[in-house]
Amino acid sequence: MGIGRLVGNHFDLVVSIRHDAAQARVDEWQASFAQASRLLWDATDGQHRLGTVYVCNNATGGRNADAWLLEPDGRSASAVSGLGSETAHMTLYGDERFKPFVVVHEFGHYGYGVYDEYEGSAGPAECIGGTTSDACIMESAWSDGDRFGNAGTGGALVSGRVSEFCVAGNHDPDSDTYQDEQRSVACWQTMASSFPGLAVPGGTPTVAAPAGAGDINWVVLAPEQRYVLVVDRSGSMQGNKMAQALVGSAWWADSARTNDRLGVVSFATTARTDIGLTTITGAGDRTDVRNAVNGIVAGGETAIGEGLRRALDEILGAGQRAATQVVVLLTDGLHNRGEAPATVLPDLAANGVRVYTIGVGPSIDSALLQAVATGTGGTYYRIDPTLSQPDQEFRIRTVLQEISGIARENGGVVTTRPEALGEADRIERRVLIEEGSESATFAVTWDGDQKTVMLELRSPDGESIDLGSVPPHVRPIDTGLPYTGYEVERPTPGEWTMVVRTRGGGSGRGQLYVFSENPHVDGALYSPATRYDRGDVVPLFLQAYVDQPVGGLQVSGRAILPDGSTAPLRFGDDGDVLTGDAVVDDGTSSALFDETHDLEGVYTFQVQVTADAGSAFYPDAGERLVPGDATNTRAIPAFTRRFSLSVVVGEEKVVEPEQEREEEPEPRRPRRSTRRPR
Ligand SMILES: [Zn+2]
Ligand SMILES: [Zn+2]
Repeated sequence: MGIGRLVGNHFDLVVSIRHDAAQARVDEWQASFAQASRLLWDATDGQHRLGTVYVCNNATGGRNADAWLLEPDGRSASAVSGLGSETAHMTLYGDERFKPFVVVHEFGHYGYGVYDEYEGSAGPAECIGGTTSDACIMESAWSDGDRFGNAGTGGALVSGRVSEFCVAGNHDPDSDTYQDEQRSVACWQTMASSFPGLAVPGGTPTVAAPAGAGDINWVVLAPEQRYVLVVDRSGSMQGNKMAQALVGSAWWADSARTNDRLGVVSFATTARTDIGLTTITGAGDRTDVRNAVNGIVAGGETAIGEGLRRALDEILGAGQRAATQVVVLLTDGLHNRGEAPATVLPDLAANGVRVYTIGVGPSIDSALLQAVATGTGGTYYRIDPTLSQPDQEFRIRTVLQEISGIARENGGVVTTRPEALGEADRIERRVLIEEGSESATFAVTWDGDQKTVMLELRSPDGESIDLGSVPPHVRPIDTGLPYTGYEVERPTPGEWTMVVRTRGGGSGRGQLYVFSENPHVDGALYSPATRYDRGDVVPLFLQAYVDQPVGGLQVSGRAILPDGSTAPLRFGDDGDVLTGDAVVDDGTSSALFDETHDLEGVYTFQVQVTADAGSAFYPDAGERLVPGDATNTRAIPAFTRRFSLSVVVGEEKVVEPEQEREEEPEPRRPRRSTRRPR
């Protein structure tokens, strides 16, 4: 999600340039955002501007970004009210580096929740009022707004006459714009309801730009990925819970990509760094992290806040802020020792650290874990407490593995699929890897004896991959732990086949994973709030991107209720009140979940989205700022992704935990690394 936010009177935003931009181009974007800030200051009569713009180059930082800056020219678009929502970002095509007016127009959608005023279902409409100088930014064409060079292709700044947002007095008189249809008021009224601190101008907005716009801070982030696992090792984790957490953490070491930086923190009565951020360059680094994980021993109380604080310190200690900074927190208990997690949360958010949280067992503060995840752009995973004890314990591991697929730079979950792995079984599953994938991970994990499951892959062009024949572009993930898999560089697009063979032993619990890293494909499932009251309708939105939002998707999903029962979800991009969908075929699929009246607790929504190359399209919703602007016609690959989202309805019942003892054991001494000196 975009992690931009309003701080005082300025918006701090993250932008991700989706290609390896040369310095000259980065400078052009900086000039565009600097002018957009001045224009915003003018349009809000000196109430809002841009503050710090964090810049991630070369397709890094995409998951946190408020704007994706694309290489080609084209028609930009934005999710409405995307600021602070999961996944949403503005899509700014390359030519907007010369059209700061369009940057502000898209921010109008994204930051303020206003809709277009230049068109509607009944044709063109007007928010121009009595003069031509106070026209609405949501109304007019780029050629009427601030741009560099009169053609918007570079050169000296040309000031446009469109520099305000409309008020009641000059808002569309024939009530047929999208803004009027959706909001029934002028832009300023919508903006003031999004930000109650904004004062709506009396009469028409002040045309002259006020002084004091200031300058933006343009901060280029380190093109680096930092991941810290924060593992609960309090007394209540003893036994199989701890064992499963360690297998899931070891997976992070084994599946890490070259140059990832990975660290592990654990907490009980106090927090401890088991291994500081380690740059993964080869098998020796993976072994070091795995050994540190294996040294973790459970015992003591539950200092969740200190665990988070230490993880933050690890990330900040690594130097200049990085494009991707992720913490994964696993806990089975209620915070009862040391600094409160709530006091760490603002520092995590301010420093751009995205936190994924996992709650296990009946003694969990889901509202807190939800708040930490949502407040930082991450996701809360609630392990269903109605599952059997062994199933819940197995889920600890599989959720840790699943998050490794989604948290990674440009990562996405193609599939995650439970499989019953019986004795002497052979199962075959096909999975689609899309065009443009830079790396795919295929894996199977199982509960039980080691080395009883084997995985063979067949590529779309018939190449067979197993541990006995590993081609050079494939790295096996197989270190004797109960998972096995392959990381495939630049996989051939098309249907891959996974063949899983089981030889005896085990509990039957298994899970398949396929992840794909693709800088063009992203998306998420989100809801406007993460806490609801019993009886509330929960609106759900799904958006998938191939650089910009894609329409024509097949979306299917289900809800898991607090008692473990399930209900189907009906999504539509149909503009229908029954799905809660605002605009037909705009690429946002919507669903209304209305079965919250009986049960309080955590509801989890799981959704699968599929685009086939024939029916997926770029929505018409891209800006048509000048008649005759070319549409975006690049090819959309067939792809599939899975998303999940949890919300808390009412209060989750919390079982009073058993008293944990304050003393905590020493870590097991890690085995000596087998790494040779270099
Ligand atoms: Zn627009
Ligand atoms: Zn208007």
